[in-house]
Amino acid sequence: MPLPSLPLPVQPCSGPSFRRRLQFLRNNALLLSALLVSDLLLAGLSTSPASGQTAFEQTSRNPPPSSRWGNPATSPETDATTLAPLPGFDPLTGPRSRLQRDWVGLRRVSASTPILLLAGHADSQNIGGSGTAGEAVGRFGAAAMYPGISDELYWNMVIAIQAVTLGQQRGLDIRYYRPPFRTIVDGNQVGTNWSVGRDHAASGGYALEIHFDAYGPDGVGSGLIPPVHRPFSRIDESLAQEFGGYPMAFRDVLGGPKRGIGLLEIGKLEGRLEASLRDPASRQQAVQAIAERIVRALEIGLERQSAPSASAPATASTAGTADRSGQRTATHQGFTNRSTTNRTAQAR
Ligand SMILES: [Zn+2]
Repeated sequence: MPLPSLPLPVQPCSGPSFRRRLQFLRNNALLLSALLVSDLLLAGLSTSPASGQTAFEQTSRNPPPSSRWGNPATSPETDATTLAPLPGFDPLTGPRSRLQRDWVGLRRVSASTPILLLAGHADSQNIGGSGTAGEAVGRFGAAAMYPGISDELYWNMVIAIQAVTLGQQRGLDIRYYRPPFRTIVDGNQVGTNWSVGRDHAASGGYALEIHFDAYGPDGVGSGLIPPVHRPFSRIDESLAQEFGGYPMAFRDVLGGPKRGIGLLEIGKLEGRLEASLRDPASRQQAVQAIAERIVRALEIGLERQSAPSASAPATASTAGTADRSGQRTATHQGFTNRSTTNRTAQAR
């Protein structure tokens, strides 16, 4: 499959920079060692995937957040300037969410706001909602990137860690959190992404969980599913400007956003995006480009940088459908086969 022409900073990762290569290897080594530690922990301590399945919090059918939660996009002026249509397709990350964004993030945040990055599905492996297998594995039978975890989790971790590394280099107060176990049945247990992200957001920080969306018709595309615990912020806005945005009440408000955790769908794990990540020849550049976009959006939201950012050429977009369930055990819209790995991306 042809490699994509990457839209973003080629400069930092195109040359044979030994330092950057070393950094990348170091990051991957860190990831792999973390995964191996997880293996050891899981071997002795994890609970049975089947046990306690009913302990999952059921996503309530809450009404959509009212205006007290944020800033509905009702001002013509605001709509014209802030909700200008984003290109429907990005050369690297593929289709953006075609769902209508119905919010604007106007709340200013401190430039020193602590940022917490999480890898989606890091604590829900081998149970419902372990993340998409990706097109390569799920459709074409390729080997998983790492045994025992979904390819989505693998890439969620790689991207989150790289974004944290880059953000720290630029002076952001940003860190990565990794749950102690890959399988924690109760999402509200201490140490889960949900619990740690909720506490971080409640104390005034910004919590963001990295995801890739399902391949094929199950997936929606890239975009931010915003946190709804308080009025939408400029960080929410800048991420949506860069990656696209989902409706505020997407899937009746998912578990993460309800707790104050934004979910960032990088893109559907398929096609060029997935190929550019899987191919060792382009992986570093792809990972770096995505991390760069995340960090730049964060910087803009924090008002540490003022440059506009959306990066793709304009193309038409059409209406789409939602594809995410609000609970770990739930199936996707209209589907009942929970064993289909592509459809498990929507947990939490
Ligand atoms: Zn996901």
